[in-house]
Amino acid sequence: MMQGFTTRAIHGGLAEAEAHGALRVPVYDTVAFEQSDARSLQLAFEGRKPAHVYTRITNPTVREFEQKVRLLSGGLAVLAVSSGMAAISTTLLALAGAGTNIVTSRHLFGNTVSLLEKTLAPWGLEVRYVDMTDTAEVQQAMDGNTRALFLESITNPQLEVVDCARIAGIGAARNVPLVIDNTLMTPYLFDTARAGAAIELLSSTKYISGGATSLGGIIIDNGTFDWHHAPRLADSARKTGPMAFIASLRQAVHRDTGACLAPHNAYLQSLGLETMSLRINRSCANAMRLARYLAGHPRVLAVHYPGLPDSPFHAMARRQFGDRFGGILTFDLADRQSCFRLMDRLRLIRRATNINDNKTLILHPGSTIFAEYPEREQEAMGIRPTMLRLSAGIEDIDDILTDLEEALQTP
Ligand code: PLP
Repeated sequence: MMQGFTTRAIHGGLAEAEAHGALRVPVYDTVAFEQSDARSLQLAFEGRKPAHVYTRITNPTVREFEQKVRLLSGGLAVLAVSSGMAAISTTLLALAGAGTNIVTSRHLFGNTVSLLEKTLAPWGLEVRYVDMTDTAEVQQAMDGNTRALFLESITNPQLEVVDCARIAGIGAARNVPLVIDNTLMTPYLFDTARAGAAIELLSSTKYISGGATSLGGIIIDNGTFDWHHAPRLADSARKTGPMAFIASLRQAVHRDTGACLAPHNAYLQSLGLETMSLRINRSCANAMRLARYLAGHPRVLAVHYPGLPDSPFHAMARRQFGDRFGGILTFDLADRQSCFRLMDRLRLIRRATNINDNKTLILHPGSTIFAEYPEREQEAMGIRPTMLRLSAGIEDIDDILTDLEEALQTP
């Protein structure tokens, strides 16, 4: 019988025997690894002898973290990188290129939209935006040059939830991989492989690091896609079979762009992973309580949380995720000034940009993450000037509720 998620998170992952029997892989804060002779170094470089040669490509502490994630996600292969944005950019650079397109939604994390529009589009990548809740629109947007479908399992901060298995099916019918940014749910709450996604991406800066200790990103090849069908990876698939995607990242895109995870951050994130399930359970329970409280408050015009029965995404979220709906919710006040005033009155909840931290955090997306877009564009991206984003931490819920209650008392 397979051990439970938390048992695997705590005990799993030791990739190599530790010389002193340490229960935790130490931080190998070194750049290079020596071989005993020139031939061994050659073989290690060619990948014909299992060995670490240079930390930008592999490192024992990073490898242990990757193994832990692989064990927990059930993925085929895992690559850890320097941030969530590095996970997204590395993946798209490997799959697509000039003259090709990807199909996605405008309801995405703000920096992801910026990556697509401001950084990748000038290199010749066409980005086709659709309403991902409308599968016909997804189908129509695809053509022979579509290299990936991209979505977030719960979008940040619009909190949209789409039918991932249907989207994956549409892609599979045309040999196009579905890439899911599963940052808000993690493999603990949502199995993207079961939904048919080819690749899962995570910002491990969030729930995994826990306590916001370090930036990190993860790329998981779920092992559900035959890479012979991906034009940019067909060559690699002939040489490395099912490992083609991660192998080609290590031998080209990732190696060449250099967004590697620092060994010390891998150590912090392995540690975070051990307690992740406990923190997620608490954060989801707190988010549900906060959503219910805010929904009943006379000064709050609307609350968006997929866990609320009146959310348009509730049924889909329940079907895909079960009874936990993540730690992020948004709510609307009368206007932007009211949002700012509320933020300024809070004494426990922190005014900061991050999510899924141990601490409860609040932010006005329109004046921060999305500030570079004019209001009309923000609207198309699902951002309202009246909207606040709350990321539920793991504090005692009564203390968070008291802080909100006091801040909401005066208009
Ligand atoms: N994807 C999502 C859904 C996010 O919310 C974020 C950051 O908030 C990222 C990616 C980027 O992660 P990072 O800050 O680790 O680069």
